[in-house]
Amino acid sequence: MKELERNKKSGWEEITDEEKNKIYKFSNEYINFLNKAKTEREIVKEIEILAREKGFKSLNEYSELYPGDKVYYINREKNIYLSIIGEESIEEGINIIGSHADSPRLDLKPNPLYQDGNLAYLKTHYYGGIKKYQWTAIPLAIHGVIVKENGEKIYVSIGENDDEPIFTITDLLPHLAKEQQQKKLSEAINAENLSIIVGSIPDKEEEKDRVKSYILKLLNQKYGINEEDFVSSELEIVPAFKCRSLGLDESLVAGYGQDDKVCVYTSVRAILNMEKPKKTAVCLVSDKEEIGSMGNTGMESHVFDTFIAELLNKLRINRPNLLDKVFCNSKMLSADVDAGVDPLYVSVSDTHNAGFLGKGVSLNKYTGSGGKYNSSDANAEYVAKIRRIFNQNNIRFQVAELGKTDIGGGGTIAYILANKGVDVIDCGIPVLSMHAPYEVTCKFDIYSAYRAYQTFFEN
Ligand code: MN
Ligand code: MN
Repeated sequence: MKELERNKKSGWEEITDEEKNKIYKFSNEYINFLNKAKTEREIVKEIEILAREKGFKSLNEYSELYPGDKVYYINREKNIYLSIIGEESIEEGINIIGSHADSPRLDLKPNPLYQDGNLAYLKTHYYGGIKKYQWTAIPLAIHGVIVKENGEKIYVSIGENDDEPIFTITDLLPHLAKEQQQKKLSEAINAENLSIIVGSIPDKEEEKDRVKSYILKLLNQKYGINEEDFVSSELEIVPAFKCRSLGLDESLVAGYGQDDKVCVYTSVRAILNMEKPKKTAVCLVSDKEEIGSMGNTGMESHVFDTFIAELLNKLRINRPNLLDKVFCNSKMLSADVDAGVDPLYVSVSDTHNAGFLGKGVSLNKYTGSGGKYNSSDANAEYVAKIRRIFNQNNIRFQVAELGKTDIGGGGTIAYILANKGVDVIDCGIPVLSMHAPYEVTCKFDIYSAYRAYQTFFEN
């Protein structure tokens, strides 16, 4: 019977010391990457650096493309698409891996600065699905850009280095929180109270809102900005924690934004370490996934189609409807994290159909909610192909659903590419504390995902 049952052992039980070293080394590189880049713009910038080191050139540096050419395209600093032209005609389809670089966070409101009592604050508007109470009483950093009226762009990052200040959102002391503690978790913290403290010194020369005035003067000295410049800024408040190894055995990773930067990093590394694939390979990093993939940097936009059309143009083979044909012949792994089974909250998972930390990369045939609503549901024929190549290459995978039926649900970018005719399945890494300021993954799964993505590109 044993050989008929699925392998449910922990991946750690099946590896040699040498493999364990490789997994730890790779995971350390991932940790370093996350500590350099916490927002979508920073991720795209870091990937561009890594890609250029590996010989990738921007699309507009090529007038024609040939097999083996390595090309990338950046959309508004928030998306990057990387491609290596394959030996086979692109008409036969491309192998795509798609992830997203945005993570839940707090954005500054367009008019954020105000004074209340003798403290100055910046107001925020939360982005994506957060549990608001998790964002109080922790160290926070400000990352982003301010674009002045004349187009000058100022890049901001405050709170990451030890010699820089951090920010925080206060919470009520338990002594006086009797009423608050009776409330539902979702209502205990009011979204309008998610304001970060930025100062307490009054400006001696002013009469009114003196603390706010002093902060405005500091901002003007440091960045040359005035209050109205906030209107054309994108400043993101993210946890000021460092990404670290977790556990006495150091087998896990704790860090902010692992949804979905863990899949970004593993898929990007997979394409960067490849030379001349048989099929054209594309690694795409999207934005706005956490709020519905809308907008011209979200996966719903046509910018990605335009990129593929440009590849067809520069390969000198484009003709009417070829783009549609290419998509219909293409295969994709939607590289997004999966809700790992949390032993402390096991009742929300169907443990027969759920991803466990340490058991490898998770395949989600469908996501959605209720009766599979809003899911693209991968075709069995395609799932068989993915199983085959993973098994042939000794890649540990598990099959998962996002929680028990009718408990909740969620989605990824999978359906967007599936709607174009691409065969798509979700394939990612199980995470604990997903969307919290500090998320947990397992190093075994991180390396499994990297190897799974490499194998996918090669087959
Ligand atoms: Mn995600
Ligand atoms: Mn998410």
